[in-house]
Amino acid sequence: MGTQESSAVAMKGPTLTPKALIYQKFGTKACYRIEEILQLADNDCLGLVIPQQTNSLYRCYLDLPELSVTSDTFPRKKDAEQSAAKIAIEKLGMQPTINNPTPQEAWNELVARVSGVFTDEIEAIHIPCSIEEHVETLTLDVSDNQYYLDEIAKKLNVADSSQILVSRTVGKASSEMKLYFPNPEAPFLASISSDIHANVEGNIKMEQILNKRASYLSCQNIYGDAILANIGYKWKSPDLFYEDISLCSYYRMLLNKVPDGHYKLSREAILAAELPTAFTARSNWKGPTPRDLLCVFCRQHRLSEPIFSVRSLSSPETSSELSEMCKKSKSSRLNEEIEMADGGAADDIDKDMGKSDTFRYEVKILSRSQEPIVDCSLADTYRKENDAIQNSALKVLAWLNKLFKQLDMPMEKLFSFGHAHDINVYPLNFSREFATCLSIYGVTQNYSLKRCSSLGSLYINQPHIKQENGMILLNIEGQDSGVFPSPGSLTCISYVVALVRKGQSSKDPLESNDEFEFEIGAGAVINQLEACVTQLSVNQAAQFIIELPSKDLILAAAGESAKHLSQSNLWNCYLEYTVKVLRVSEPLEDRMEKALFSPPLSKQRVQFAVAHINESHATTLVDFGCGSGSLLELLLEHTTTIEKIVGVDLSRKSLIRAAKILHQKLSSNSLMQTSIRAAVLYNGSITDFDARLYGFDIGTCLEVIEHMEEDQACLFGDVVLSSFCPNVLIVSTPNYEYNPILNRSTIPNKEDDSEEKSAPCKFRNHDHKFEWTREQFNRWATDLAVRHNYSVEFSGVGGSGDVEPGFASQIAVFGRNSSCKAGKCWKMEESSQPYELVWEWTDSSGSAL
Ligand code: SAH
Ligand code: MG
Repeated sequence: MGTQESSAVAMKGPTLTPKALIYQKFGTKACYRIEEILQLADNDCLGLVIPQQTNSLYRCYLDLPELSVTSDTFPRKKDAEQSAAKIAIEKLGMQPTINNPTPQEAWNELVARVSGVFTDEIEAIHIPCSIEEHVETLTLDVSDNQYYLDEIAKKLNVADSSQILVSRTVGKASSEMKLYFPNPEAPFLASISSDIHANVEGNIKMEQILNKRASYLSCQNIYGDAILANIGYKWKSPDLFYEDISLCSYYRMLLNKVPDGHYKLSREAILAAELPTAFTARSNWKGPTPRDLLCVFCRQHRLSEPIFSVRSLSSPETSSELSEMCKKSKSSRLNEEIEMADGGAADDIDKDMGKSDTFRYEVKILSRSQEPIVDCSLADTYRKENDAIQNSALKVLAWLNKLFKQLDMPMEKLFSFGHAHDINVYPLNFSREFATCLSIYGVTQNYSLKRCSSLGSLYINQPHIKQENGMILLNIEGQDSGVFPSPGSLTCISYVVALVRKGQSSKDPLESNDEFEFEIGAGAVINQLEACVTQLSVNQAAQFIIELPSKDLILAAAGESAKHLSQSNLWNCYLEYTVKVLRVSEPLEDRMEKALFSPPLSKQRVQFAVAHINESHATTLVDFGCGSGSLLELLLEHTTTIEKIVGVDLSRKSLIRAAKILHQKLSSNSLMQTSIRAAVLYNGSITDFDARLYGFDIGTCLEVIEHMEEDQACLFGDVVLSSFCPNVLIVSTPNYEYNPILNRSTIPNKEDDSEEKSAPCKFRNHDHKFEWTREQFNRWATDLAVRHNYSVEFSGVGGSGDVEPGFASQIAVFGRNSSCKAGKCWKMEESSQPYELVWEWTDSSGSAL
């Protein structure tokens, strides 16, 4: 019965979905709109004003020229769309076209299907076996009375088509792209194939020379000149995607074989994207994941699939492993310190850390014959298994990338570099697998290459880091909207890259993207692009120019114009990037703080500080790690006793932002009731003492210490209480134990597809070096206070201190013990003033008196 039913369905032929039917009839006139309906869970979590979402539902509105319909609600957007389309079909009484053509229709379709075979000319690629000769396009004449293999034989100077061999398919599995090459004499084949790798230096003394480029593409040994062509595919269907071979596609195939090539290609950003340096969160990582990239790389090089294996942490055997684990799970050196001071009381923390599932992964790359080539045992641990896998894959990719980009680096140096990054290389196996491939790039990059290291001098890309200063920013257009990309934010830009010839006005556009999203600070784009974007605010545009990257990259990006670019000399050309910032979505931490708390946590921290300022009648305030001045700015809006505010930060860029904002607000202060008479911004590290900031009434350090390495955070604690000696010091930092609550809440973010929920990151912001539990924070602060004769009280904002898991943001308020006079705090080096003054403002009316 069941089989009858299914065969009946099969008889009808492929059925179209409602959406497809609507598209057939209305094309782009059909307009779908999705509405998200938030499903709210009980708001059982203290501190969160916005209830936690469980699941969103979607409703779809479909507008057609003749009518509009609304779907029911569905958990998935696509179901809502299909439902709306179905309703419309019913209302319109549309009959799905039944696949029952008339003889004429059937005939027309058949003709259309086979017409492709009657092409007269096929574009193909000629790959000379001499690596000094350029790869070029050629046209094969395959008109009716020509047999295509005869034509290929002619082009390869081979007597007849029976001497032409054909490779396995190259590139996509579905394609018929193959390499055609002359049959080398059998005796040669035997003698060469056994020790071909010993001969990579290029001293093969035979008539038939290995065609390195063709061999590399096909992963089989090919001798003599070869032709890459796609023949015999079109007849399958005119509708099927037919891959024309062009020079551009050849260079894309080459690019696809390098570690970051697939990433650049799949983001369609060959001249803009770089493999990011960190896998911070799935929702921030755009494009194929590191694991997928590594698998593609291995497949491309005919290696075995990479093997990922978990290294359990639940029972660390050795003490060294334990301490390493503690360090890496960010419970730190600090614990060791405390352990020493408290006689092992910190053990509990360590055990907890071990219990809370953390993952550490190992990756192995093996050759086809299962010989080890590279393995990487990552020292870092991750709370999420996926993060551990992705980061270990990324580590290997990054190393391979470095190798491919600096092929003139001596092998030994590369291997020792690998060692320093937990990567273990098996040199013999490695060179056996990669020798041929590595010799390709050096020569295509630089035709007049003389020196050859063991790996060949290969560059697929220019050393981009060194170029950072080589960028020339041309102009910035548009008003400063004040919304700027900050580290950790997802930024969406549009850009155009054009090839420009010096002294000529015409430009060749090479690559463009209307919407390209990437995470700032993760190295996801070329340096110059990020440097440009971080100087812009939303809606601003700018242009910059850089020197040309390798010709391979240019040709891979060039599309149609690759053919004529390959023949022209590019020595007097440069690249011009035109960039516009479209949107910025803030780092997860900021989004959570704004979306889930009211007032936003940052405001609550300021209010907390204001209360302490007024309580202590403070008149001078220093903000350690002031960033772009959010606290100082908000202070202007509160009535306080403060007369002088000073901010210190390591980031010049942030300080310049802060100066702009404060200047604006202070110079229009007739509107404000501020008591502030002076404001100063310094550039410097808060771990260095500067005598100008000695003995302030109040010091604040909000959400800063977690951005420093733990030893630096500890150093800051000592310096501030022993040298700066503020009467009151307020330090805030995230409460690690609160993260699960934040992670459970879906952060409203329209761009996220509901189907792939943004996975929580390890910490709230990828720039965080650690996040402490309440106990860790308490230990740090208590110990610090005791050592420097301060008292300390604990508090926080977001949530409640009395209910698990405590405040979202934990705060310690240090107070100098009254018994300890200011004089007791020595100014260690009275004259030391390492900070650089960035901006200063004094109220002229006030100071004139
Ligand atoms: N307090 C600000 C900014 C927090 S972000 C606010 O609440 O909005 C952390 C800031 O600490 C960054 O601006 C970073 O540049 C700064 N920072 C990190 N390490 C520092 C150091 N050693 N010295 C000074 N500033 C530092
Ligand atoms: Mg932070």
